[in-house]
Amino acid sequence: MSKLKGGCMCGNVKYTSDSEPAMTAICHCVDCQKQSGSALSIVVALPEDQISFTGELKLFVTSGDESGKKINRYFCANCGSPLYSAPDVMPGSIFLKAGTLDDTSWLKPEMEIWCASAQPWVSIDESLPMFPGNPPF
Ligand SMILES: [Zn+2]
Ligand SMILES: [Zn+2]
Repeated sequence: MSKLKGGCMCGNVKYTSDSEPAMTAICHCVDCQKQSGSALSIVVALPEDQISFTGELKLFVTSGDESGKKINRYFCANCGSPLYSAPDVMPGSIFLKAGTLDDTSWLKPEMEIWCASAQPWVSIDESLPMFPGNPPF
């Protein structure tokens, strides 16, 4: 039985994975704010080879942070929902957009990243590890 299941807003893109999430984070980076149209995104890290997608994804590549490593951002070709990011800085891992999960009841973010660009009104849980940019991988 698949542990993780989800999909985009229109239902054209779906995914399943039997993997345990490697970690769950809240990302305050500017690109996540732009892509989500919101203040942040909630991401679940998984090994890239342990998730399968159906449906047509489109790719937009951003220049990423000052390290120059690119971030590959995949979204539904039909409705535009962001599904996951694959940063070149962490080859082999993807960051699923947790809002696309069918069941989000188990989600519990373990860290806050890119806090330096967090919107000022967002309350950050200071009991969690916080990083101004990427966490140390
Ligand atoms: Zn869609
Ligand atoms: Zn981000």
